[in-house]
Amino acid sequence: MRDIQHIGVIGAGQMGNGIAHVAAQCGLRVTMVDMKPEALDKALATIAKNMDRQVQKGTLSAEDKAKAESRIATSTKMDDLAGCDLVVEAATENEEIKKKIFVQLDGLLQPQGLIASNTSSISITRLAAVTKRPEKFIGLHFMNPVPMMALVEIIKGLATSEETYERVREVAVKMGKTVATSEDVPGFIVNRLLLPMLNEACYALQDGVADVKSIDTAMKLGAGHPMGPLTLADFIGLDTCVAIMRVLHNELGDSKYRPCPLLVKFVDAGWLGKKTGKGFYDYSGSEPVPYR
Ligand code: NAD
Repeated sequence: MRDIQHIGVIGAGQMGNGIAHVAAQCGLRVTMVDMKPEALDKALATIAKNMDRQVQKGTLSAEDKAKAESRIATSTKMDDLAGCDLVVEAATENEEIKKKIFVQLDGLLQPQGLIASNTSSISITRLAAVTKRPEKFIGLHFMNPVPMMALVEIIKGLATSEETYERVREVAVKMGKTVATSEDVPGFIVNRLLLPMLNEACYALQDGVADVKSIDTAMKLGAGHPMGPLTLADFIGLDTCVAIMRVLHNELGDSKYRPCPLLVKFVDAGWLGKKTGKGFYDYSGSEPVPYR
C-alpha cells in the first residue's frame, strides 16, 4: 500500500482551506473541490494570505510557500478526486449533504481510496454506512484555524479498520498535528465539552445576565480562555454551532443540550458570525462591535 501522497478536500470554506494549506505545506498534492467557484477563489486567497503571515514570521520560506501553493489544484467537479489516496470532506455540517457527497465519492474513488469526514458531530458510523467501503472511512476532525491549532481528533466508526486508522494517523502527524482518538459519540471530545459552554453563554446573554462584551471579558480574564465564548461562537460559525447542538440534543436525548433560542434566531437572520461579517459582533469596521 503506497503512502498517502494525493489528498482531496471537499468544501473550500473555513476548514477546507486550512486543511488544504497544511496538507500542501507538508508536501502532499492537494485537489480542493467546492461547488461554488467563488469559494475556491476565496480559499486560495486565504491560503496565500496565511502563508504570507508565516513567511513574515520566518516559519516558512518564500520558496516553500511557492512550492506548497503549486501543489494545490482546485475544481468544481468531484470527478477530479478520482485519483486521490485520501479525500477529506469538509462541506457544510448537514447530514443529507454529506451523505450525498459520500455516495458520489464512493462511486468514483479507486477501491483502495480512503474517505475521511471533518464533521464536528455527525456519527462516523452512519456516514460510513452509505458507502461500500465503511472499513476505509474515518473521522478526521481538525480544529479552526487549521494551520494554527495543534490538535486533530481521529474517530473510528464501528467498521473502520486498524489499517485505515494507522494510515490516516500517519498523515495527520505528517501534517504537524497531535492526535487525540475519540469514540464515535456525538460531538466527540472537544465539541461535547466546548459547545454546551458556548450555548450556555448564549443563554446568559438571552437571560440578561450580562452584555456581549462582559460575557466575553469575564471568560477571558476570569477563566483564562484565549477568546470569549461569543467571539469563539462567531468564529466557528453560528450555523455550525446550532447544527452541533442539534446533534447533541437529538442523539444524547438530554434537554441540557437544547440549542439556545437566541442562537437559533441569529442563524435565522443569516447572521452566521465572522464568515458573513456579522454575528454577536459586527466585523465590518477595524474593530468588532457587539451587536447590542
Ligand atoms: P463553511 O460554511 O465555511 O464551508 C462549507 C463549504 O462547503 C462551502 O464553501 C460550501 O460551498 C461547500 N459545500 C457545501 N456543499 C457542497 C457540496 N455538495 N460539494 C462541494 N462543496 C460543498 O463551513 P466550515 O466551517 O468550513 O465547516 C465545514 C465542516 O467542518 C463542517 O462539517 C463543520 O462542522 C466542520 N468543522 C468546522 C469547524 C469550525 O470551527 N468552523 C471546526 C471543525 C470542524
